[in-house]
Amino acid sequence: MHEASLAQRIAASVAEAVEPARFADVATIHCRVGELSGVQPMLLEAAFGVVAPLTPFPAARLVCESVAVAVHCVACDASFAPVLGRYACPRCGAPSARIVAGLELLVTQVAFRAAATSPTSPTS
Ligand SMILES: [Zn+2]
Repeated sequence: MHEASLAQRIAASVAEAVEPARFADVATIHCRVGELSGVQPMLLEAAFGVVAPLTPFPAARLVCESVAVAVHCVACDASFAPVLGRYACPRCGAPSARIVAGLELLVTQVAFRAAATSPTSPTS
């Protein structure tokens, strides 16, 4: 399953970025998933739920934000959303294949749950 291997790779990326001492505190991993990335956000979230127990963050949840396709027109410097797959600039009519958003699959944020350690006591 495509999404399961992606979920494992996301967990591996987070494991590289987070200090091992904080693995247990990872609560939510946020991702941006482009509409042209070939990934279904809901399927990726579900796949992460399946593989999470096998990762260093068994209680973590993946939350995906879908990113719409945006195209940049080199001719007139406009940015636009293609309509019905038509990659022509609505301002000047020039065709453009310069996709500036919608292809990504990015981990954007890792949220930690509040540390459940003992409250800090004043030191004398
Ligand atoms: Zn244009």
